[in-house]
Amino acid sequence: MKKSVSIIGGGPAAMMLAAKLDSKKFTVSIYEKNNALGRKFLVAGKGGFNLTHREELEVFVGRYHPNYFLKQAVSDFSNVDLQKWLKELGIDTYAGTSNRIFPVKGTKPIEVLNSILNAIENNKVTVCTGYKWVGFANDNSLIFESKNQIKNVNSDIVVFALGGASWKITGSDGTWLDYFMKRGITCLPFEASNCGYKINWPSGIIEKLEGKALKNCQFKSGVTSHAGEAVITSLGIEGSGVYPLGYEIRKQLSEKNKAELLIDLKPQNTLEEIRLKLANRKNVSLTRYLEKDMNLGETKTLLLKALLSKENFTDNKMLAAKIKTLPIEVTGLAPIDEAISTVGGVSLKEIDDHYQLKKIPNHFVIGEMLDWDAPTGGYLLQACFSMGNNLAHYLNKN
Ligand SMILES: Cc1cc2nc3c(=O)[nH]c(=O)nc-3n(C[C@H](O)[C@H](O)[C@H](O)COP(=O)(O)OP(=O)(O)OC[C@H]3O[C@@H](n4cnc5c(N)ncnc54)[C@H](O)[C@@H]3O)c2cc1C
Repeated sequence: MKKSVSIIGGGPAAMMLAAKLDSKKFTVSIYEKNNALGRKFLVAGKGGFNLTHREELEVFVGRYHPNYFLKQAVSDFSNVDLQKWLKELGIDTYAGTSNRIFPVKGTKPIEVLNSILNAIENNKVTVCTGYKWVGFANDNSLIFESKNQIKNVNSDIVVFALGGASWKITGSDGTWLDYFMKRGITCLPFEASNCGYKINWPSGIIEKLEGKALKNCQFKSGVTSHAGEAVITSLGIEGSGVYPLGYEIRKQLSEKNKAELLIDLKPQNTLEEIRLKLANRKNVSLTRYLEKDMNLGETKTLLLKALLSKENFTDNKMLAAKIKTLPIEVTGLAPIDEAISTVGGVSLKEIDDHYQLKKIPNHFVIGEMLDWDAPTGGYLLQACFSMGNNLAHYLNKN
């Protein structure tokens, strides 16, 4: 007789699992509280839809925190495998200049989602929408609320794929955390990741620089450094150049209530080269010289002017040092709901190598609801797809 598999939550991790489980062996149902699957996937679609990243596997795996945890899943179903799978479903992809992989131009996010939903349908999966999981019954069955009724579901195998806790409007609200804690499963509080960082900008900066981008910079915090750009906001700073520093910034914030962000405004030049350039200024005004002759541009120059005392700004040695290392104090993270992803959730100590809860056999947890982290750039979706694939492979074999 076929075993029953209940998958709770209908995001990318769940969809991949549902598409790959062996329908000759299992009767598979997805329970999703929204009226449709993949709402956060569609939101990701609006923001560029970075499905994965073109990068050597070893480097790719190194992007995750902790990376031991995702090494197997991402090696077994890599960025190349994800692109092949999508192609089989009719979705062609391409690598942008930043090596980010997107669906080819003209492909709407809903088309990508519909192709995956077709694969799920072809795999004879039952999709139950409008089913909100509200906890475990005493006999371990799953309790759902659906159309104002309570329904209990028993299943041979249960897989939770309930997502993190940002962008609650998409359904991923993290309320499941209480049900797990009540069952004695250790969960860590959610924190924002891939988010803006709070900075108490001195007065006057926001009026002049809000929405302006610091392009071609090297951003550093602790041991982590990343090249890219970030936008100055009324909250502080945000963007793909600073997202990868999240792990380090969160660590420093939890230890010291503040974190240090260092910006190299001219990574293509050494300190010595910058000193020489500054020394060569003749009768041009310093502001103009920085903006035009040294190619710093208006935003970087205004930022230096606003953050340095007049004495330091006009001292060539000090100015050169600050162009190479501009220290900025981060005082906090953006609100969780605005973050692209969250860390926290089910502790990795609670699961075995196959995502199975050690305290509740035959119950598995995959996707963003586990406590791992990755920068934007396609690593989040890749990890969720890889975990779904990996678990399907394991269940199909056993
Ligand atoms: C604005 C934005 C842009 C993004 N862009 C990218 C990008 O370009 N590239 C990238 O790699 N990643 C991106 N991400 C992140 C990516 O979308 C997520 O990491 C990914 O969707 C997580 O997948 P998941 O399957 O773990 O969970 P989710 O996609 O969060 O799905 C979880 C599902 O579970 C359902 N659920 C929750 N609680 C219950 C319950 N109690 N009962 C029943 N169902 C429930 C939810 O309704 C939801 O449908 C972006 C995210 C955001 C918010």
